[in-house]
Amino acid sequence: MKLPKITIAIDGYSSTGKSSFAKLLAKELGLLYLDSGALYRGVTLFAQEAGYIDAENHISEALKEKLASLELKFLQGKLYIGERCVEDEIRSMKVSSQVSPIAAVAYIRHYVDDCLHCLAAEESVIMDGRDIGTTVFPNAQVKIFMTASEEVRVRRRYDELLAKGSNPDFEEVRENLRQRDYIDSHRETSPLSQASDAFVLDNSEMTLKEEVEWAKGLIRGKLGIYEEC
Ligand code: C5P
Repeated sequence: MKLPKITIAIDGYSSTGKSSFAKLLAKELGLLYLDSGALYRGVTLFAQEAGYIDAENHISEALKEKLASLELKFLQGKLYIGERCVEDEIRSMKVSSQVSPIAAVAYIRHYVDDCLHCLAAEESVIMDGRDIGTTVFPNAQVKIFMTASEEVRVRRRYDELLAKGSNPDFEEVRENLRQRDYIDSHRETSPLSQASDAFVLDNSEMTLKEEVEWAKGLIRGKLGIYEEC
């Protein structure tokens, strides 16, 4: 499918499979994939390691100044802080447990939004997150809001952590998803919500291939493209 320069925004609850879906769709359509959650996770790891967030989720004002020199970048789809690849650390339960309080802070959201706009300036992109279709790219040509049953989401996240060699507790994973969804949906700045022009994709009982086929049909329809791909 030949596409004009476009932006595809994918939002939704935690562990609805947004990144696997967005990555495959990006590959099939030849677009750049940007994982906005990875940037929030990168800021969280940085804040934890530098002692800017404590166990009660109090965030030091000093973080604000330090963000100006924080260099987050993607290399071959993996997140780096400076020259250090932090892809594994940012997916840990430790980072997951504090990322939503970090992502609720307005100046941190502005920092990440600026990074995303820079990264997406020149290219067609598929970006996934919580506020892409509502705040970051409200004019995205295609918006998808993903959801799935809680049981399916907890299982996916649990399996993902197991596959990465950690030893997760199923109920702890469930609690973390609930907490993140609650904080993400109730924060003051850019809460997670479905854009009025987003299409809902409930993938509780869909394979990844089915999801991608559904999305291609949606994109063709939205852009008025009739050729098959
Ligand atoms: O997508 P992922 O689960 O890796 O995102 C981690 C966290 O980053 C989310 O739980 C949410 O708190 C935050 N986030 C956000 N806005 C985005 C993307 C992620 O608040 N656009």
